[in-house]
Amino acid sequence: MIKITLLSRQVLLPLFFMLTFTLSSTSTALAVVSESKNDSGADNYISDIEADGLYSWGQNKLPLKVYFQPGNNVPAYRTKFKEILISCFDEWSQVSNGQLDWTEVTDPQAADILVSWSDQAVEASQGTEAGKTRTYAHYNQQTNHGKIDRAEMRLLTRLPEREFSESEVKKAYLHEVGHAFGIVGHSTNPNDIMYFAVSKKQGLELTQRDKATLNYLYTPAAI
Ligand SMILES: [Zn+2]
Repeated sequence: MIKITLLSRQVLLPLFFMLTFTLSSTSTALAVVSESKNDSGADNYISDIEADGLYSWGQNKLPLKVYFQPGNNVPAYRTKFKEILISCFDEWSQVSNGQLDWTEVTDPQAADILVSWSDQAVEASQGTEAGKTRTYAHYNQQTNHGKIDRAEMRLLTRLPEREFSESEVKKAYLHEVGHAFGIVGHSTNPNDIMYFAVSKKQGLELTQRDKATLNYLYTPAAI
């Protein structure tokens, strides 16, 4: 179990967010999602996530140190997975207006973000978990803001019934890096990478709303 440490008004919170695959009854269609019910046309989706608190890494942590656990021994792992994941870290960093940066480390003890792969699928109520990111943060209940201490990402190497396509991997990894970088919560718009499930409506890149939401979290006035 995870310990919760109370530090006056700060709470060390383990937050769990997973990306799910929703399969149809024939298991051939991926991410059967309903039409957007809640597309307000807003520039970002802070209103969707702020109830759970707004989180960010402190500038003193940069560049964030990322350790990739070798996936060679994990069934269905492809070397391409790490390449795609690196591109996802880069893409989020590039849209952060210099507020985020990362570097790979070879010592897991030195890592801020720990990445591992697994072929053990977990079935959740909304589908198969394609990825799961746990974020540990000190949360200030007065400001509704949390400073992230550490994140752990667990990425699935294959679905129970088939392998992932490369585009699914890209969408899933972009999504999990979004969590690891501070977007703790989900967009309600299936076009956004931070929608809770992999969706056919998502492109292979971040939407303007994804970018604006991240940047809001790293705007000093917001916190
Ligand atoms: Zn998620």
